Amino acid sequence: MANGKSYLCDTTKCIACRSCQVACKQWNELDTLHTSNRGTYENPHDLAWCCWTLIRFKETERPDGTLAWDFLRNSCRHCMDAPCKQATEHEGSITIDAETGAVIFNEGTKDESYSKIRLACPFDNPRQGPDGQLYKCVMCYDRVHNGELPACVKACPTDALTFGDRDVILAAAEARLEEVKADGFPNATILDKRDVRLLLLLADPASYYVLNTRDG
Ligand code: SF4
Ligand code: SF4
Repeated sequence: MANGKSYLCDTTKCIACRSCQVACKQWNELDTLHTSNRGTYENPHDLAWCCWTLIRFKETERPDGTLAWDFLRNSCRHCMDAPCKQATEHEGSITIDAETGAVIFNEGTKDESYSKIRLACPFDNPRQGPDGQLYKCVMCYDRVHNGELPACVKACPTDALTFGDRDVILAAAEARLEEVKADGFPNATILDKRDVRLLLLLADPASYYVLNTRDG
């Protein structure tokens, strides 16, 4: 692996259609969840062992008194030096895919402490399945090995999601950040860009978004 792969999630282009959320479930053949109407478009209410990608909605009152929504994808960020892997006690339960750099949870996570692994994740992503294994986004590494885009990226109708070699995505993210700043969002930022493979470009202050389930 040179620098592996990365995604850019450009929230300025996200329309919260949730095509990425559906495509993730379809490609990975994830089970369904019973959901209920909670008075929000956000559904289900949390990540789950069978929900690896979730678009979060947050409505915030702005300084001028108006209300506005911000949308943000919650899913594994594929950390460069993954805290979840550092927290393991069994060799091979969490591995790094050599080609992409994706952080992969294997069957051996059944033998890890769920609470310890989940707490180690700064973004609260790991979830335990009924079989005891821990689950989260796997970067569709099977698709990527065959020259395909991750299912979520392919499904995105607005190009809010892009994917490719890490160097290329980092350069594209920096260029897009300058465009967004020049377009009236001087405080736009890219979260944790040196530390993660899923780069989140935010136009508004981070407090306007649900950054992970602990904030939701
Ligand atoms: S986001 Fe969480 S689950 Fe994903 S690699 Fe980082 S620490 Fe692990
Ligand atoms: S598919 Fe693209 S536009 Fe739709 S919710 Fe996902 S990131 Fe946003």
